[in-house]
Amino acid sequence: MRLNAADLTALIGLCREQIEQHCERLGRLDSAIGDGDHGANMRRGLEAVYRERDAISALPLPAALERIGLVLVMSIGGAAGPLYGTLLMELGRGLAVGEEEADFAAILAQAVAAVARRGRSGPGDKTLLDVLYPVQAEIAGHAAPLRIAECARNAAQATEMMLARRGRASYLGARSIGHEDPGASSCALLTRAICLYFKE
Ligand code: ADP
Ligand code: MG
Ligand code: MG
Repeated sequence: MRLNAADLTALIGLCREQIEQHCERLGRLDSAIGDGDHGANMRRGLEAVYRERDAISALPLPAALERIGLVLVMSIGGAAGPLYGTLLMELGRGLAVGEEEADFAAILAQAVAAVARRGRSGPGDKTLLDVLYPVQAEIAGHAAPLRIAECARNAAQATEMMLARRGRASYLGARSIGHEDPGASSCALLTRAICLYFKE
């Protein structure tokens, strides 16, 4: 994984675009099983990162990822903020500690575990973790970018039949079944944006 400043600026732009394009859909998913703000929350987060993109991209990668995480925590607002924030900050910290040949998959696994601790949630709880776990597994297995993006989409879709055990959707109990989790959906969108970039 060798990302230069131009790569990072491009990736920030692509993630922002992806969320912007699907903002309404994320809002609708969250209206069904939450409070309807997930699209707006994610848009606010990605807009905040986008505004800082030049300063962020000028940083060494570990510091840049930590900064993105912090901006997301400060700007997303909802439950997803600290979770996406933890993911990025832990990735940054992991890369800072690691050597050049540091295994990105192992660092990602640590970061996903930190998100799970932060949310006190695990596989099958119908959250963004239900996308992060399989994506992490595909990356550990050196899957091709398009395969990873497809896996993320399928994983988000699979949350539809799950019963929510964490977050606002859990208040609905069995009525949460039949709706895709908004956080899982945004996570699949961001995974797709990033994977399409690495495909090229
Ligand atoms: P809020 O619920 O505060 O309005 P958002 O709508 O922005 O926050 O985000 C909701 C998403 O956050 C959910 O769809 C779910 O994926 C994720 N989420 C919420 N709580 C948790 C948790 N405890 N662990 C993991 N993910 C969670
Ligand atoms: Mg919400
Ligand atoms: Mg909310």
